[in-house]
Amino acid sequence: MTGKLEEMIENLKDIVGEEWVVTKREYMESYLRDETPDALRPSAADDLILVKPSSTDEVSQILKAANDMRIPVFPVGGRTGLVGGCVPTERGIILSLERMNKIEVDRENLMAVAEAGATLGDLIKAADDADLFFPLHPGDEGAQIGGLISTNAGGVRAVKYGVMRNYVKGVEVVLPTGEILNLGGMLLKTLAMISCI
Ligand SMILES: Cc1cc2nc3c(=O)[nH]c(=O)nc-3n(C[C@H](O)[C@H](O)[C@H](O)COP(=O)(O)OP(=O)(O)OC[C@H]3O[C@@H](n4cnc5c(N)ncnc54)[C@H](O)[C@@H]3O)c2cc1C
Repeated sequence: MTGKLEEMIENLKDIVGEEWVVTKREYMESYLRDETPDALRPSAADDLILVKPSSTDEVSQILKAANDMRIPVFPVGGRTGLVGGCVPTERGIILSLERMNKIEVDRENLMAVAEAGATLGDLIKAADDADLFFPLHPGDEGAQIGGLISTNAGGVRAVKYGVMRNYVKGVEVVLPTGEILNLGGMLLKTLAMISCI
C-alpha cells in the first residue's frame, strides 16, 4: 500500500470502526468481481481497501475524506451486474452498503423506505409480508437497492410494470464531496422511497 492509502485506512477506522475496514485481500475476494463472464470482466486493482459504513453520515465522511485525498471510490451493491460496473479497477476504496439494509413498508400509502444495501429479495419479502407486491425482477434477488437504482434495472416484467425508475419517488444521495442531498418524496431515513402496488 502507498502512504496515501495507509493514511486513509486510519481515517476509515476512525469513521466506521476497525472491524468494518478490510485490508486483507483474501477477505475481499468476492467484492472484486460481479456476474460478468470471466473473459469480459475487467481485472481488479492490487491496492484496495474495503469499507462497510452503517449510516449516511458515515458514507458522507468517507466520501469527503476520499475526495480530499483524491482517492477513487467504487460503490458495490450485490455484485450481480453483467458489465463489470462495480469492479474496482484502480487502487482505492470499495464502498459496500450491505450493513444499511433496513426496509420500512408504509402499507396505507403503498410506499416503502429502503436503505441502499437492502436486497431486492428483502424488498420483495417485505412487500409480500404487508400483502403488497413489488413487481420489478431483473433476475437476481441479491441485487441491492443502490445497484437497482444506479443501473435503472429492468428484467422480463419491465414490459408490463416498467423499470426501477418508475418505482423511485425520492432518494437521499451523498455526493463525492460528502454533501447529502434529499430529493423527491417524504424521506424518513437513508435512501429511497419505493412504491409498491
Ligand atoms: C441472472 C441475472 C439476470 C439479470 N437480468 C437482468 C435484467 O433482466 N435486467 C437488468 O436490468 N439487469 C439484469 N441483471 C443485472 C443486475 O442484476 C442488475 O443490473 C442489478 O440492478 C445490479 O444491482 P447490484 O446491486 O448487483 O449492483 P452491482 O452489480 O453491485 O453494481 C452495479 C453498478 O451500480 C453501482 N452501485 C451499486 N450500489 C450503489 C450505490 N449504493 N450507490 C451508487 N452506485 C451503486 C456500482 O458501482 C455499479 O456501477 C441480471 C443479473 C443476473 C445475474
